Amino acid sequence: MKKLAFALALIVAAGALFAFGCGKKQSGRSLYEIECAYENGVLEGSMDFTFYNDFPTAVKELKFNLFPNAYREGAKYPAVSASAAAGAYYAGKSYGSIEISAVRDEEGETEFSVGGADENVLTVPLKREVFPEERYFLSVDFTVKLAKIDHRLGIAKNAVNLGNFYPVLCGWDGGFYECVYYSSGDPFFSDCADYEVTFTAGENYVTAASGELKRSVTENGKTTNVYTLENARDFALCLSEKFETMSAKAGDVTVNYYYIDDAAPLKSMQYALKAVETFSSLFGKYPYRSLSVAETGFNEGGMEYPALVFISERLEDAAFGEVIVHETAHQWWYAGVGNNEVEYGFLDEGLAEYSTVLFYEKNEGFGMTRPQMIEAAELTYRTFCNVYDKLFGKVDTSMLRPLGEYSGEYEYVNIAYIKACLMYETLRETVGDKMFFKGLSEYYEAYLYEEAEPQDLVGVYEKCGADTNGFFESFFDGSAIL
Ligand SMILES: [Zn+2]
Repeated sequence: MKKLAFALALIVAAGALFAFGCGKKQSGRSLYEIECAYENGVLEGSMDFTFYNDFPTAVKELKFNLFPNAYREGAKYPAVSASAAAGAYYAGKSYGSIEISAVRDEEGETEFSVGGADENVLTVPLKREVFPEERYFLSVDFTVKLAKIDHRLGIAKNAVNLGNFYPVLCGWDGGFYECVYYSSGDPFFSDCADYEVTFTAGENYVTAASGELKRSVTENGKTTNVYTLENARDFALCLSEKFETMSAKAGDVTVNYYYIDDAAPLKSMQYALKAVETFSSLFGKYPYRSLSVAETGFNEGGMEYPALVFISERLEDAAFGEVIVHETAHQWWYAGVGNNEVEYGFLDEGLAEYSTVLFYEKNEGFGMTRPQMIEAAELTYRTFCNVYDKLFGKVDTSMLRPLGEYSGEYEYVNIAYIKACLMYETLRETVGDKMFFKGLSEYYEAYLYEEAEPQDLVGVYEKCGADTNGFFESFFDGSAIL
């Protein structure tokens, strides 16, 4: 995600056979086949899920995150903080939820439970142990009700945002990792899978989606689109009756821009195209065939999903462009190289921030330079340190903290975005440009479609032969002085 304040401040078992490739080979990944229909704030869905066990151990149950329940009345961990709620809920109090009506397995209807820390986890006991490299088939029927909110999931002012809308298998961390919906940061962690999503809505809607549009049929006033996406850790959509669209190519990547009220859409498209070109040449090949950029209602700067980004319509001009760049960078750092964003959010956010600096450094004419951006980041960070020092008598700048251990948005942004960005600038100055970029491209290649931890980043630079002894640790533990 990109925080608004700082944007402004810085100016299949068998089922797997049919959908993909030549239709002969099963991938070593799970498959989501989701059919859903949207009407009047309600999404009716059914999901065929073919689990592929690529964990080192047998599993006897599957756990799925139910993120829509963070929008429900009485949520212990609401999707937006109390201070941000007034701005996000533009039409007053409003609630959303997900209800699971049935789960079936290979033998028919089966038991399930909804629980976790905050009604946020669907648990399905399996009828047999599923061993590594085996598959297991489940089908889940669900209904999502949407709140009126400018946020990841909800009826936004001018569009409908469908982020994190279906039961998504919990990421694996030696066991299924249950994500609590912290309002600071992006509280998500999931492994890459393949997707086929069949989505129906009124024919007046134009829909932006993760993935490739394979078929589209309009009849009886409704349009049904079928999308596929391989090797993705999530799938999202965004629809609006007001969307205008344009498409262009960045190399062999198709960039689609969906906009509502953009006086200079060609300029916005330039940010996306140049970002894809710049990051492809610096880090490695873009992980998908297309990127869709959707201007929508969002109370923060923007939000990243595989092959799809949301950009807040509230942003103006340069800040709008900067957020397009930041969210596009997340296609390498989040969609490509994943990480547990609850435990190590700074990994992808810091890289997305520093990639944005690189964008401006490599592309003149977009109004900012690397020294300007680093100076602004240093000023923001030092101000934060002074404020915390005065308020609490000390400032904790350690980075290896889960989302729940930050006091709120301000502290989280300064550590996970700003300090992490400055860490990369300092690393670059320490090891030199050649080693710095070698390390980043090696990190991308080694962990593409996988999930990395902080020690993996450290390990990549060590393997490259960089003299980084103690460097990362001093940033992680907060002893480095900036
Ligand atoms: Zn971000």
